[in-house]
Amino acid sequence: MAKKAKKRREDLKPGEVLCSYCTAKCCRYFAFPIDKPKKQADFDHLRWYLLHGRVAIFVEDGTWFLMVYSDCKHLQDDHRCGIYETRPQICRDYTTDNCEYEDDGIYDMLFETPEQIWEYAQAVLPMKSGRTFSSEPVSAREVALPLLG
Ligand code: SF4
Ligand code: SF4
Repeated sequence: MAKKAKKRREDLKPGEVLCSYCTAKCCRYFAFPIDKPKKQADFDHLRWYLLHGRVAIFVEDGTWFLMVYSDCKHLQDDHRCGIYETRPQICRDYTTDNCEYEDDGIYDMLFETPEQIWEYAQAVLPMKSGRTFSSEPVSAREVALPLLG
């Protein structure tokens, strides 16, 4: 059976709430700004974050963020807030105006694996010896190359 198309926000009728058509994407993670990495030790710290899984690092307008994927404990099965009347201020302040309802979010940079952040570190850090974490060579299968048309 064909998947039902997601309602577009511009198609909402007066009085309708966009969140009624959402799976509460904004309640399933939190993110906070982190220092921009400048040296190898900084990148090694970010690599440690990413080793934990269910986290990502993204960059927007020059600011680096750590994003932790974790459902709020008060998110209910129907995707509604279980403590709506007493929800934290940050939840109250959040609006649908620029929220992530659509699946088209784009970051300036996004790192989802330790290998990605380290590959980036190798590209931007000045060359010096002893910069690799592993003596094992990277296999061809681990290297993603752009497809040329
Ligand atoms: S604010 Fe946006 S992302 Fe959050 S539940 Fe509503 S529609 Fe979904
Ligand atoms: S408190 Fe309610 S609105 Fe806030 S993140 Fe949790 S479920 Fe979402």
